[in-house]
Amino acid sequence: MKMINVTKSSMPSYEEYCAEIKSIWDTVHLTNMGPIHNTLKDRVREYLGVQNIELFVNGHLALYCAIKALGLTGEIITTPFTFASTTNAIVQAGCTPVYCDVKEDYTIDENKIESLITDKTTAILGVHVYGNICNVEAIQKIADKHNLKVIYDAAHAFGVEYQGRGIGAYGDVSMFSFHATKVFHTIEGGCLTFKDGTLVQKIALERNFGVNGESLDCFGTNAKMNEFQAAMGICNLRHIDEELAKRKAVFERYTKHLQGVNGLKLLPKQDIKQNYAYYPVLVDEKAFGINRDGLCEKLKEKGVFARKYFYPLVSGNKAFGTDLTKATPKAKYYSENVVCLPLYANLDLADVDMICEIIKG
Ligand SMILES: *Cc1c(COP(=O)(O)O)cnc(C)c1O
Repeated sequence: MKMINVTKSSMPSYEEYCAEIKSIWDTVHLTNMGPIHNTLKDRVREYLGVQNIELFVNGHLALYCAIKALGLTGEIITTPFTFASTTNAIVQAGCTPVYCDVKEDYTIDENKIESLITDKTTAILGVHVYGNICNVEAIQKIADKHNLKVIYDAAHAFGVEYQGRGIGAYGDVSMFSFHATKVFHTIEGGCLTFKDGTLVQKIALERNFGVNGESLDCFGTNAKMNEFQAAMGICNLRHIDEELAKRKAVFERYTKHLQGVNGLKLLPKQDIKQNYAYYPVLVDEKAFGINRDGLCEKLKEKGVFARKYFYPLVSGNKAFGTDLTKATPKAKYYSENVVCLPLYANLDLADVDMICEIIKG
């Protein structure tokens, strides 16, 4: 039986990657902001259409460094409908996550943020879920009114544009993940894009042990991207437009088959330049006949591995000691009923047809 995974990393040819890493044997510059790192940084900055950018060893540490570099303390209003990383970064940076429910497009509900603000709130941390974006204008208004910082976990949103601007240009800081499973990858990797150019020194300190020449300026971590990662990024960025076009074809094939199917709700469409990162389907058991878990089982029997994503909610982390998931009923419902179907650039359209036959059968 043919196995189809929910995702499959895009790879450059072996020769293309080797050509890119060849110079490392001459420079013997393996890490610590080397020449390949610097080239990738310039290219990603241009691609994302942002002013300021710094690269990281992974997206999670980038997000952690963003919270530290902004000097945030106290409470951060965030979403429970995300990957573990978002909450973990907040807690690891010494702050407390305060969970706000989400809306139909799976992003934080801007109408519920203000009632959660206390005298301890210092920031709003939204997540652009499945490549769908938060209401960046409404969130900025709230932040300005209450003097809060705005951070976006844009791990899913590489290449997304809103009103002609790269999504990384909104808010104070955005984090993009370049993990192997993401639309663009550097094996592991990530970046921060940020509005205030003077933040660069603080971000660099957090990324490199707090070392500033011969002085130690803070208790920083180690989150530098190495040259081998950067070389993979240079190769993958070269092919990003073809990759996105192939993803688009897969995405649209799913939609052709699945729109109008009773009991399935597809990803709400926004007025953005999409990146076709994920294909989530919300299953309404009553109308569809079986529930999300049942659908996953049915697909698995045929060798198709869909992913319950995001499940469980990050607010259900046992380390909290209490179950915080009840406070956000919509996020809880989505988490228990949504499934992401296989989606990657080289997924055959015939396989998409087959997957949709299983779903509809
Ligand atoms: C992938 C992901 C991260 C973490 O990124 P890494 O590069 O794997 O550390 C954070 N948030 C979300 C929403 C993600 O999907």
